[in-house]
Amino acid sequence: MADRIWNFNPGPATLPLPVLEKMKADLPNYMGTGMAVMELSHRSKQYAEIHAEAQSMMRELFNIPENYKTLLLQGGASTQFYMIPMNFLSEGQTGDYVNTGAWSKKAIKEGKLFGNVNVAGSSEDENFTYIPKDLNLDPNAKYVHITSNNTIAGTQWTTFPDTGGVPLMADMSSDIMSKKIDINRFGLIYAGAQKNLGPSGVTAVIIRDDLVEKGKDDIPTMTKYKTHAEKDSLFNTGPTYSVYILKLVLEHVKNMGGLDAVENVNKEKGDLLYGTIGANSEFFRCPVKEDSRSIMNAVFRLPTEDLEAKFVADGLAAGFGGLKGHRSVGGIRVSMYNAMPLAGIQALTDFMKDFAQENS
Ligand SMILES: *Cc1c(COP(=O)(O)O)cnc(C)c1O
Repeated sequence: MADRIWNFNPGPATLPLPVLEKMKADLPNYMGTGMAVMELSHRSKQYAEIHAEAQSMMRELFNIPENYKTLLLQGGASTQFYMIPMNFLSEGQTGDYVNTGAWSKKAIKEGKLFGNVNVAGSSEDENFTYIPKDLNLDPNAKYVHITSNNTIAGTQWTTFPDTGGVPLMADMSSDIMSKKIDINRFGLIYAGAQKNLGPSGVTAVIIRDDLVEKGKDDIPTMTKYKTHAEKDSLFNTGPTYSVYILKLVLEHVKNMGGLDAVENVNKEKGDLLYGTIGANSEFFRCPVKEDSRSIMNAVFRLPTEDLEAKFVADGLAAGFGGLKGHRSVGGIRVSMYNAMPLAGIQALTDFMKDFAQENS
């Protein structure tokens, strides 16, 4: 498709072309139903299959143990910021939070509405350019909350903290499915789908059974994990079309060879991009400490803001979109989620080298 660009948008983000083509092929008549997927009843047999397959493929790809539920919810990761404390935190109780940037802060703000927040670690002292190693965990905390990949700051946890018996809960919105992880380390994982899993509109939650049970009862029905776990995420009308696209993305990842294959390509992409920055260090500067660099979102600066603006504009003219850093931090951000192929990073790094030479 000659008219598509290399899309480095941070989210919603690029989707695999075979997924877009399958969506198109299924319009306007899905499998002989005479209807498009978004016109099917959420109680229909055809949708039930989509719904079940999306979840069973998630289980298979992520190697989710039996004692965890997969939920397909709405409201984005931002709804999880309050759903977690609403379910698990009461006045006088404490939730541990690690503050690694803008998204962590939003989670912390919501946590404070329900109980005490102990900021067990923070990298705010150095502008969120690293993942804190030494945490001050409260052994009596109800949970420990981390942001596994910091989409704006460009940092990523590579090993997860040992929280003893306290459930670890992670916002994995921007690195879920990017590599193999041991689900057993977590009590709850959540992710808005629009970075690595599919389109906006659906939020994946992986939650351990004992936490489903532990959730509070005296909160609104829609905010209880129990409601959605008991009704297999069909308590009300879910985001059916988004779930269908999620299913197509999962199928695509399975065809690519699963998370082993995905992880290898992602590492290769990260090495190439950060290698190019390192090899042209008079021109490109990555503020993030080496051991904390994200292989999903790479952030870097150019010598001046004018050159950064030129880089974004020339990049777009050359077929590279979405390179502008988040408005709160400036600079350049390259979001290279699963659906960005190695060829895209090869093309971009060639452009980077040429740009550095011409503008040095
Ligand atoms: C994008 C993002 C969010 C916000 O997700 P919504 O689905 O828009 O609520 C939260 N956390 C992280 C780490 C993100 O990257």
